[in-house]
Amino acid sequence: MSEQLSSRPVLRFAPSPTGLIHVGNARTALLNALLAKRDGGTFILRFDDTDTARSRPEYEQAIVEDLEWLGLRADQTFRQSARLALYQAAAEKLKAAGLLYPAYETEEELERKRRLQRARGLPPVYDRAALKLADDERQKLEAEGRKPHWRFRLAHRLVSWDDGVRGPQQVDTANLSDPVLVREDGSFLYTLPSVVDDLDMGITEVVRGEDHVTNTAVQIEIAEALGGVAPRFSHHNLLTLPSGEGLSKRLGHLSLRALREEGQEALAVAATAVLVGTSQALRPVESLDELAGLVDLAAISRAPARFDPEDVGPLTARTLHGLPYTAVCDRLAAAGSAGGAAFWEAVRGNLTRLDEARSWWALCNSPARGIIAPEDADFCSRAAEELPAEPWDDNTYGLWIAAVKASTGRKGKGLFHPLRLALTGRENGPELARLLPLMGRARVAARLKGEMG
Ligand code: GLU
Repeated sequence: MSEQLSSRPVLRFAPSPTGLIHVGNARTALLNALLAKRDGGTFILRFDDTDTARSRPEYEQAIVEDLEWLGLRADQTFRQSARLALYQAAAEKLKAAGLLYPAYETEEELERKRRLQRARGLPPVYDRAALKLADDERQKLEAEGRKPHWRFRLAHRLVSWDDGVRGPQQVDTANLSDPVLVREDGSFLYTLPSVVDDLDMGITEVVRGEDHVTNTAVQIEIAEALGGVAPRFSHHNLLTLPSGEGLSKRLGHLSLRALREEGQEALAVAATAVLVGTSQALRPVESLDELAGLVDLAAISRAPARFDPEDVGPLTARTLHGLPYTAVCDRLAAAGSAGGAAFWEAVRGNLTRLDEARSWWALCNSPARGIIAPEDADFCSRAAEELPAEPWDDNTYGLWIAAVKASTGRKGKGLFHPLRLALTGRENGPELARLLPLMGRARVAARLKGEMG
């Protein structure tokens, strides 16, 4: 039983609530959530909000809403600011093991050291001067009023992991600076809380952007120092604008909010976020379950994924064309175009945005006048006379057209175009065969006679 439970994956999306999430963040959220969904696991939403100066509750709320719009709901939600005691305990444990040490350099002193190292052609790695301080030197600094920040003492060893996207990775932590885990004011930087939470929450897999590759060896060392086993890591490529510019939460690039307000379909945005920058072709999906079946970390490319906002519109249209009525009925009703399955199947192929369904619904259900050119007036009223009696069904149109053809001698465009204009007032649109039964005989007859109907 417990073995079965432990084989279930636990994944998390861990945004810092410092802005609206964009398509690149959605890529991370979706990969984690869909893997959990597909493999019967748990999806955790964790707000990495230890940066109190920049984190905002309203962004948390917006992130939850944006994820819901995508169709994602977390099984559990946590907030790091409510878990500080855990990080404190972990820090104490590391201190007791001699793995977290106080350092007193100011930012200026560190910058000076780095400049000197660079000038000598050396990598700007922290020299561990603080480790060499004698007790009296430390006391002297403290007496001067200096407060320490705390660095994790790396083991200077080879750390390896098998990255789900990038394959086997190896980092020699001797080439890295001992990371600062706790600031002078006692607040935590991102690194330690992330490791503590991943262990405490039993996270089995972390899928995140490749901007975090450089943190991974450090986080594996810290997890092991705390007596845990780090999750499996997969680092996906980052989304960029077509210009190559990276997406920024701060600059509000391609926020999910903006895409939603433009009327893009959530499934189209989700499919783009997951499939762009992989060896898989961009394609519409009918559900997140279908998209979950397409997630393939090994298919993610190493090069940045260029996201062209122009691709979302066409994919929104293709998505709508394939969506079953059950997938849209609630939204249709909310948008005031309650029409049933027959209505949806009639119009979906002509939509580029869902809200356009409304005008087709109005055309079928409320009085309107079509367009009849003077030279087509007789033809249209003859066509009205040929309308079969109700009830109307899918065959009505075929029967009617055959009768109109026989009685007027018209065919091709000369036959169909005036009828479409008279009935819909538009050059193009859904098949008349499907619209006719939705409009009903009285309306169709009135419009063919040039009346309001
Ligand atoms: N809060 C971090 C971020 O938004 C999470 C990184 C991680 O997944 O470990 O980038």
